[in-house]
Amino acid sequence: MDIRRHLKSTIELGAVWSGVPSAMRWQRRGDVLILAFHNIVPDDAQQTGDRSLHLPRRRFVAQLDALARTHDIIPLAAALAGHTGRRPAAVVTFDDAYEGAVTVGVAELEHRGLPATIFVAPSFLNGHDFWWDALTEPGTSALSPALRAWGLDECSGRDAEIRARAPSEHHAHITRAPSHARGAHEYDLVAAAAGRGITLGSHSWNHPNLTRLDDDALATELTLPLEWLRERFTNVVPVISYPYGLSSPRVESAARIAGYTAGLRIDGGWLTGGKSSNPFAIPRLDVPSGLSAAGFELRVAGVRVR
Ligand SMILES: [Zn+2]
Repeated sequence: MDIRRHLKSTIELGAVWSGVPSAMRWQRRGDVLILAFHNIVPDDAQQTGDRSLHLPRRRFVAQLDALARTHDIIPLAAALAGHTGRRPAAVVTFDDAYEGAVTVGVAELEHRGLPATIFVAPSFLNGHDFWWDALTEPGTSALSPALRAWGLDECSGRDAEIRARAPSEHHAHITRAPSHARGAHEYDLVAAAAGRGITLGSHSWNHPNLTRLDDDALATELTLPLEWLRERFTNVVPVISYPYGLSSPRVESAARIAGYTAGLRIDGGWLTGGKSSNPFAIPRLDVPSGLSAAGFELRVAGVRVR
C-alpha cells in the first residue's frame, strides 16, 4: 500500500467530515471558481497518454453532482462580467476540445442543464492527437517532467517540432492516442456547440508555448482561431485559454490587440468578488484526473491541499 497516498486520503476525508469545507464555502460566497478540465473518457477506456488529463466519466459525473449541491454553476461570460451570488459560483471549462470532452463530457452537462466553455485549438480537430499523449519514453508509461520541459522550451511547445526531434534526441516513441483522446471531429464540436449553454473559446491555433513566439507568429496564433470560430459558430466568447497555461505581459497585450477580452491561466484559484485586477490573467483551478471525491470537495470549497 502507498502509505503517503493512504494518509493523504485519510486527512482529506477527515477534513470533509470536520465541516471545514462548509465553513470555507461560507467565506467564499460571492466568489467564482473557474474549473479547468481536459478530457472526459468513457468508463471502460484504457488509461492513456498524460494520465492527469483524462478523467473517467463516472468521476466527472460525481464531481458535477457534488458541485451543483454547493455552488451555482454559471456561464463563463457571467463570471467575467462580475457575478456575485449568495453561494460560491463555479464555471466548467475544457481545454483542448478532446473528442471525449466534446461528446461524453458535454452529454453529461446537457443532461443536467449545466453551462460550459470549450477552448479549441483548431489544428488538432478531426482526430489529431497531442504530443503529450503520443510520446512515451523507454521504461516509462507517461511523459517525464524533463521531456515535457524540453518540449515547452526547446521546441516552443510546437507539436510538429517535438515529434520530429524527440525520437532522436530523447529516444521517445510515438504512439497513436485512442479516438476519445484525440482532437474532436468538427461535426461533434458542431453538435456540442448546439447545446444550450455551451460556448466556445480559443486555445490558440497550434497549441504552442506563446511566450516563445516572435511577434508575427504570436499574432497569427491568436488571430486565426478567433476568426475560425466566428466563421462557424455564433456562441463564441472572445476569451483565450493560454496553451499550457503559459503567458507573459507581451502575450497578454497581443491577445488584447487580437480582439480578446480575457485570458485564462491554468492555476491561481479563485476569482474574488467576481473580479480580477487583470482580465488577461484570470485564475482557474486545474482538476487533475487523480483527485479523490474528498480531495475535489476540499479544493472547490477553497481549502488548500498539498
Ligand atoms: Zn491545452
